[in-house]
Parts: sequence; C-alpha cells; structure tokens
Amino acid sequence: AAMKADDLREIGDLGAGNGGSVKKVTHLPTGTTMAKKIVLIDAKPSVRKQILRELHILHGCHDPHIVSFYGAFVTDPNVCICLEFMDKGSLDGIYKKTGPIPIDVIGKIAFSVLSGLTYLYDVHRIIHRDIKPSNILANSSGEIKICDFGVSGELINSIADTFVGTSTYMSPERIQGAQYTVKSDVWSTGISLIELALGRFPFAESSSDDSDLSDLEGTLSPARAGNLRMSLSMGLDQVERRPKKKTDKKDKRKSNGVSLQGGGMTMSILELLQHIVNEPAPRLTPEGRFPVESEQFVDACLLKDPDARPTPKELLSFQWMLDTKNKDVDLVAWTATF
Ligand code: ATP
Ligand code: MG
Repeated sequence: AAMKADDLREIGDLGAGNGGSVKKVTHLPTGTTMAKKIVLIDAKPSVRKQILRELHILHGCHDPHIVSFYGAFVTDPNVCICLEFMDKGSLDGIYKKTGPIPIDVIGKIAFSVLSGLTYLYDVHRIIHRDIKPSNILANSSGEIKICDFGVSGELINSIADTFVGTSTYMSPERIQGAQYTVKSDVWSTGISLIELALGRFPFAESSSDDSDLSDLEGTLSPARAGNLRMSLSMGLDQVERRPKKKTDKKDKRKSNGVSLQGGGMTMSILELLQHIVNEPAPRLTPEGRFPVESEQFVDACLLKDPDARPTPKELLSFQWMLDTKNKDVDLVAWTATF
C-alpha cells in the first residue's frame, strides 16, 4: 500500500541537515517505526511528481548495506521520504559521543560502505554523491548502512537550488567541476574513515591560522551554505590547478557584484577547497598507530588522480578488507557501548 501522511504519527526528532529534518514516526497500519525525512522543495507540482517517480526506483534497492525505503509522498512544500529507522543514528553523532572509533570497527564500516556502493553502482548504476559520516547509519543489531544517495536527479537539482550542503567531503576533481563518478564516492569514503579514526574532521588542523575551520565539521547553517553556494558559483575558477594566474580576485569579486570581504567563513571554505585541490591528501596518522593495511587502503581512497583511484569493488579486495572479513568484530557489543 502507498505511504501516506495520515498513517504516520510523529514520536520524536532524529536530527536536521541542510535540506530538511528527520522525524521518528510510527506507521500506524503496520506498527513499524520509521524515519521520515522531510525535504523542503520549492518546486512546481509537476517537478515534485517527477521527484516521486524517480524515488520509486528505491523500491527496487535491496541490500544489507543500504537503508530500506518504505515509500514517499508529497505534502505541500515538502517531499517526505520514509526510511528504515536506524536506532543508533549516524556515525558523526556516534564518534562525537564516543571519541575515535576503534580501527577494527572502522574496517567493518569500510566494508559495509563499499559493499553498499558496489551494489548501488553494479545493480542500479547509481552513484551515491554524498558519502559522509552523517549518511552512514548504525543499529543495535550491529548493522551499518548507507542512506541519502542520489537517486533522483530532480531532487538533487531542487535541493541544489536552495542549499549546497557541506562540500568538504568533495573530491579534488569534483571541486574542479568534473563529472561525478563512483571514484568521487571513494574519496569521500576515505575522508570519512579518517574522520572516524581520528575523532575529528581531518582537515580541521591543516590551516592553523584559521580558527573558523573547526566548525566545518557537522553541518553548515543555511546562511553559511548560502555563502558557500555563492562563492562556489562565483569562484570555482579560483580553485584550480594553476594556483595563481592572472585572476586578480578583487576584479572577480567586483565583477560578480558581491563582496567577499568580511565573510570570513566564506573565505575559509574557499581556502579549504583550495587546500583539497592543491595540497597532499590527508592520511591515517600518526604513522604506526594503525595497521599498515588500513593506511594503504586509505591512501588508495585518497589518490588525487581519479584514474589511479580504485573503484569501490576493487577496494573490496584490498588486503585490509580481506583481513576484516576474517575478523570477528562484535558490532552488537560495540553499539551497546553508547
Ligand atoms: P546534510 O543535510 O548536510 O546532508 P545530514 O545527513 O546530517 O546532513 P539529514 O540527512 O537531514 O542531514 O539527517 C539528519 C540526521 O537525522 C542525521 O544526522 C541522522 O543522525 C538522522 N537520521 C537520518 N536518517 C535516519 C534514519 N533512517 N534512522 C535514524 N536516524 C536518521
Ligand atoms: Mg543525511
């Protein structure tokens, strides 16, 4: 039966991101607990219907590492998406509570994320586009699953019209405007794994002269996301291979009729994006703290040249993943610790 608004009773808040909020709900006809994601879409009814049609393919996505989809519906300015409720929440919330996540657990997480990505790509030709700790969820059965992947082109467009979201997990080639490929998801996976292992966003200390960078972890407020969008749309050509060419930034800003002066945050994000493009990728550090196989794995995820970077499927046969498969890591016990 189709999902409808009247059948759901809200029983709590699960969180909010740039695009909307997520509620814990009971589906009254079945008694199932679900997560209802409310996405504010400022779009014509025809566009919303198109989004619903596109979301329909989620009904065919079944994998142990993909959050299940129950259905979606439109309510005035919103699209509501009903998902499997993951009672331990997202990995960003978890590591902020527990501190750095044990590397053996991260091995299992990496395996889950890559299996999910491989399923999405091999079976449905879907590229996730938004891998980050807040889109990797855990439950008390010890399962790790990914959510919020880009199934609906129209939904992506509609959200992009309003918000940009955190772009700090973006690969260098994406920052430079290249097409999304499944390799971009691998980069984002590598950044996320380092974040979980260190218990902090890996770029946070890279620019010690900028205290604002520390708020880049977590979410950006809509205002900040707006700033980011503005700078991205006007300034992406400043973030490029040739660090300094003729561009004198002043002219650039003037010609766009927007002043970036005084927008300290805006500049920090641009600087971060520049850093991702121009500087060596982060690594699992300090050396020797983590198994060498995990270091090699993360280094491969973060190869700056997307052609050299392995696909999710290739990564599944890296030594660290083979070791992980044979290892007894009790994720149920782990999730019972928080
Ligand atoms: P962004 O908007 O930048 O992508 P986000 O991923 O945190 O950030 P949402 O996707 O709106 O934003 O999710 C908000 C929060 O809701 C998540 O951080 C997560 O903790 C929680 N959440 C999302 N989906 C579920 C789910 N299926 N089960 C349990 N909690 C969920
Ligand atoms: Mg999310």
